[in-house]
Amino acid sequence: MKVSIIVPCFNEQESLPIFYEEVIRVLDSIHCEYEILFVNDGSNDDTLAVIKEFTDRNRMIKYISFSRNFGKEAAMYAGFCNVDGDYTVVMDADMQDPPMLLSKMLRILEEEDYDSVATRRENRTGESMIRSQFARIFYYIINKISDADIVDGARDFRLMKKSMVDAIVQMGEYNRFSKGIFGWVGFRTFWLPYENQERVAGETKWSFWGLTKYALDGIINFSQVPLSFASLFGVIMTMCSFLAVVFIIIRKLLFGDPVQGWTSLVCIITFIGGIQLFCMGIMGQYIAKTYLEVKKRPHYIISDSNKEDIKKVN
Ligand code: UDP
Ligand code: MG
Repeated sequence: MKVSIIVPCFNEQESLPIFYEEVIRVLDSIHCEYEILFVNDGSNDDTLAVIKEFTDRNRMIKYISFSRNFGKEAAMYAGFCNVDGDYTVVMDADMQDPPMLLSKMLRILEEEDYDSVATRRENRTGESMIRSQFARIFYYIINKISDADIVDGARDFRLMKKSMVDAIVQMGEYNRFSKGIFGWVGFRTFWLPYENQERVAGETKWSFWGLTKYALDGIINFSQVPLSFASLFGVIMTMCSFLAVVFIIIRKLLFGDPVQGWTSLVCIITFIGGIQLFCMGIMGQYIAKTYLEVKKRPHYIISDSNKEDIKKVN
């Protein structure tokens, strides 16, 4: 049995040594064959040097280094494309995915009839109120309008059998939203809740705006529902205008037709204009995604690695 661990790293020089010690300790206690694949996502600190130090000490340590920052999604995809373990897991370098849980996760996959063990934070301690409230709203909306099952609090920390990893590699879309992809491919998943951990060192790379954009991307990637807003608004507007016509005809018959209502007319025109622009904006988002998708650019570019059979560009 071989376990592959994928670790996306972006400016993690402080957390990496702590992570490394802990994960090796856990792996040694499990007594299994393993490889740890660090994906250096264009860090501009000494992350790569720290990783290279690990490779000198331990030949199970592999690394891939990107030519620039491509984002965690690209780093995870590069990982999935380049590991060959019977079981594969993605872990953050900041210890927010406790390595301690690994042995329990492995036991569940080995002994029970599941294809993956996914982790879910039970609470959001250490996170601001506004942030967790927005997260809750996001999960509510996306589950209402998409077929992928996206669980609130789910982490990317997930141990998977090879068959599931192969399915994920096959999903070669450029706009990646892993929480959706994991749910979309299906397979039997065991959910393991755990207490939220705060990162050991360094800072989160997510700004509030970055997270909002990520959430909107997730919705657009996994649902076509926003596209039908335009038709819905269209139907409602047509019905309203029909009622208005009836109202005006009756008023004309009963009271004659004094010219009035300039203000209401301007309000209606700007209102409809606003809705039209809003709908065009939504369509624009989908077109932009399609544009990126059809260009078929590589997900990532590798500048350095110690793996022999590396997939240079994908
Ligand atoms: N990460 C990455 N590329 C990026 C941003 C983050 O590879 O552009 C890695 C980061 O090094 C960490 C993991 O993704 O191992 C999670 O990042 P972070 O802790 O900033 O996110 P959070 O835990 O706050 O969601
Ligand atoms: Mg983190």
